[in-house]
Amino acid sequence: MPGEVILDVRDLHKSFGALKASDGISLDLRAGEIHALIGPNGAGKSTLIKQIAGGLKPDRGAVHFMGRDVSALSVAQRAHAGLARTFQISALAMEYTVMENAVLGAIGQSGRTFGFFRPAMKDRALLDSAAAALERVGLTDHASTITSELSHGQRRQLEVAVALTLAPKAFLMDEPMAGMGAEGSRELTGFLQDLKHQAPILLVEHDMDAVFALADRISVLVYGKIIATGNVDEIRSNADVKTAYLGEEDAA
Ligand code: ADP
Ligand code: MG
Repeated sequence: MPGEVILDVRDLHKSFGALKASDGISLDLRAGEIHALIGPNGAGKSTLIKQIAGGLKPDRGAVHFMGRDVSALSVAQRAHAGLARTFQISALAMEYTVMENAVLGAIGQSGRTFGFFRPAMKDRALLDSAAAALERVGLTDHASTITSELSHGQRRQLEVAVALTLAPKAFLMDEPMAGMGAEGSRELTGFLQDLKHQAPILLVEHDMDAVFALADRISVLVYGKIIATGNVDEIRSNADVKTAYLGEEDAA
């Protein structure tokens, strides 16, 4: 059953010189789903995610989130509205503990600044919010671990915990499996399957096994245009998709 529309991307256009990286892209993300966005390198996937998150201004088109036009809002304003872009590893403070990183996320939520960090480590509400987020992603046992000592997969989980302190209403993820081994990918797959019930996920991912295992819907982006949207079976059997992306030539 399709859920309520949480994120609604309407006719986005973005050119870099003569290159149309977004050529009239419309798609939506509904409650309870993982909507995967796939397509060849250079198709414009990351460019689309950046425009949705607010870091890159479209030439035209609009982004509606929770029934509201957020096109004019900054990245921080969209994040506060509940649109969480996760898996930017550089956002973690590697020399801080796992708990400290989660508290930093909670400070962001409260609108206070970094200078508030020391007293924050004694603030019960912030600590509770951080601890709940760590528990949610299964990192409670690692609360005092220095972040740089976490495995790749655990860092991704910590990124989600940081995002969770913002009580997200939707997740944007650009290639979360990148650089992970098979085991890490499997772990993260199970984790995302669970996470989507908390907030739907717009997932850009190269790992087709993960996409086919996870996605409720898939959109295929080629040269800045979505050429197909459908469930896993529909996308697998779509002749245009096979030709343009999945690399099979039996479409004729
Ligand atoms: P994908 O994530 O699907 O691999 P990108 O969105 O990163 O693709 O890039 C889409 C196209 O836009 C590519 O041809 C890329 O070189 C180009 N591009 C992306 N960002 C910029 C930029 N800031 N300036 C110029 N060209 C860009
Ligand atoms: Mg990309």
